Amino acid sequence: MVNLLDFDVEGLTAFLAARGEKPFRAKQVSRWMHRFGQSDFDGMTDIARNLRETLKTLAVIAPPAIIADTRAGDGTRKFLFDVGGGNAVEAVFIPEDDRGTLCISTQAGCALDCSFCSTGKQGFNRNLTVAEIVGQLWQVRHAVGAYRENGSQGERLITNVVLMGMGEPLSNLDNTVSALRVLLDDHAYGLSRRRVTVSTSGLVPALDRLRDECPVALAVSLHAPNDSLRDRLVPINRKYPLSQLLAACRRYLEKAPRDFVTFEYVMLDGVNDSEAQANELIALTREVPCKFNLIPFNPFPGSSYRRSSPIRIRRFAEILMAAGVVTTTRKTRGDDIDAACGQLAGQVLDRTERTARRTFALRLEPREVCR
Ligand code: SAH
Ligand code: SF4
Repeated sequence: MVNLLDFDVEGLTAFLAARGEKPFRAKQVSRWMHRFGQSDFDGMTDIARNLRETLKTLAVIAPPAIIADTRAGDGTRKFLFDVGGGNAVEAVFIPEDDRGTLCISTQAGCALDCSFCSTGKQGFNRNLTVAEIVGQLWQVRHAVGAYRENGSQGERLITNVVLMGMGEPLSNLDNTVSALRVLLDDHAYGLSRRRVTVSTSGLVPALDRLRDECPVALAVSLHAPNDSLRDRLVPINRKYPLSQLLAACRRYLEKAPRDFVTFEYVMLDGVNDSEAQANELIALTREVPCKFNLIPFNPFPGSSYRRSSPIRIRRFAEILMAAGVVTTTRKTRGDDIDAACGQLAGQVLDRTERTARRTFALRLEPREVCR
């Protein structure tokens, strides 16, 4: 059985063409799946009965199952998905007055091991499939009622998608690119490139490929104004240092749908938040059209960092803005439900592993740093 959520529209066209179907059929099936949230072939009423019967024998439409759906007081809603083998990934829906943003995951765990990141501390399990990436949006659209609305009203519920959940999208580039194509396709979700953002810690060759294959809005996790500090915080920097990363950002902008890169900068008390470091950052990024998004550090069990104080964050932002750099500070939303990168999944893993520990005491792996 194939999972049709694994195909972009081109893949679906090829799949149906191999069964003698014309390309418009792929568009029809895609609209049923993605625009109307249909998972039952019998419900695809304008598709010929014999094709529906064939599809039932060959294919399924199977997103990952939601295993937790938690609402914070501020409206933020966090979903946890079962991706099998004891792995869970998360998506966070952030409703605002004028838009709704969904943050989705691209990997179960992450191999890049940034020192302040809960996902990184869980280690790498595996890449998500296209169906698991796109399926998060599919499921959340159902959960928030976007499919019930069946039209323009529903479209407005989730207006933006950011690949900023668990994992490094550019380490799972092929599946990420196919998933992005589904998000953008008019016969699927029809999102504009400007409203879909990939966040990366800076895999330079993959960033060039993303630019060539499917450029969308770009966020880069900078977090430090020089290589020696970034080497410690974001270890992939040892392979692709800042000079290479910033040059890749400039190349990306040649084809990007927006004319700036968003630099994410996690605010770690006493580590990267001094006035001198703000000035160093201005000098470093002078040649790259950019905006800054300061992210107050989200502590998690076992983390050794502290969040910078609001006064320090404000001062840091003021220095950037005085130099003409547009700077926003991320609201710490969903704090009461641990809506930070990797945290809820971390807890589930925790529980699973505590059970595992009791049951299979000899099979413990010394991997879990964040417990
Ligand atoms: N792997 C990608 C995307 C997922 S992480 C990347 O690193 O960009 C999304 C963002 O959350 C990144 O900017 C990351 O650095 C940040 N982040 C990770 N752990 C965090 C924490 N504990 N507190 C605040 N931000 C964190
Ligand atoms: Fe991976 Fe991003 Fe976390 Fe770094 S910050 S470990 S790249 S998910």
